[in-house]
Amino acid sequence: MQSGSGASGHHTAIADSSPYNICPGLVCIPHGDDRPAREGGITTQGYLVTSRDGTSVLGIDTVPASVVDAVEQQCSAGGKTLKGVFITHRHVMQSAKRPEGLHAQTRFRKYVRDNDVAVLVHDADAARLANEVEAQVPEDLRLTFQEPSGHPLLKDFDMQVVAELHGHTEGGTLLLWKANGGIIFTGDCAMGAKTAEAVKLTRPPNFTSVSDDQLKQEWADVTLPDEVSGFCSLHGRPSYGLSQQEVKELRLHMGRHEPITAI
Ligand SMILES: [Zn+2]
Repeated sequence: MQSGSGASGHHTAIADSSPYNICPGLVCIPHGDDRPAREGGITTQGYLVTSRDGTSVLGIDTVPASVVDAVEQQCSAGGKTLKGVFITHRHVMQSAKRPEGLHAQTRFRKYVRDNDVAVLVHDADAARLANEVEAQVPEDLRLTFQEPSGHPLLKDFDMQVVAELHGHTEGGTLLLWKANGGIIFTGDCAMGAKTAEAVKLTRPPNFTSVSDDQLKQEWADVTLPDEVSGFCSLHGRPSYGLSQQEVKELRLHMGRHEPITAI
């Protein structure tokens, strides 16, 4: 696939350690503290989406302490309220099984509890988290999760769940934001490119998935909405402004290529 700016007309967001705008109403917030990914040369990030009426924001995977700071700054600078956080899949929260991992999530957990912020996680992943993580966490930091599919909050943000893929985790969720030509938040069901010049989607390293074969088949079978122009993943560069042909090729690649064994 051709890459770079100009001729093909697509854009790949520029990497930075501070928050930056991908397109109107969408801010990328680098995590900056995912060591295996960083050592593999691939970015890790959360996102902040502004509601249609401009008064609220929805976080996506905005869990680590450094990201909570950035979310608070974005909210206070824009006079906006954080209404919900969509967790793309259980891996984002599972570091809290370890004390240092829980420490990194403490501010997030306190913030969402104190401010009545809804935390959305697919039921299948939420069940695993309830058993394996929340049951071990001190009561004052414990979270309850809400199913994203059909959740009323998503309507305020022009968002909807468009597919559930079970190959990476049991409750992987593709969330569509209908603004800006349609942007899909993939979590780890797909990873973006390592460099800003490339436009690429790959499956995550196969040992990180419940079943890479299943994930591959799900990408081959999934029906995406007609209007899609970008993909924002947990790892790798977000992309937007893609042509229909580019989206089609990325999708086919996801269902065909061999698994990778390392980042
Ligand atoms: Zn994952």
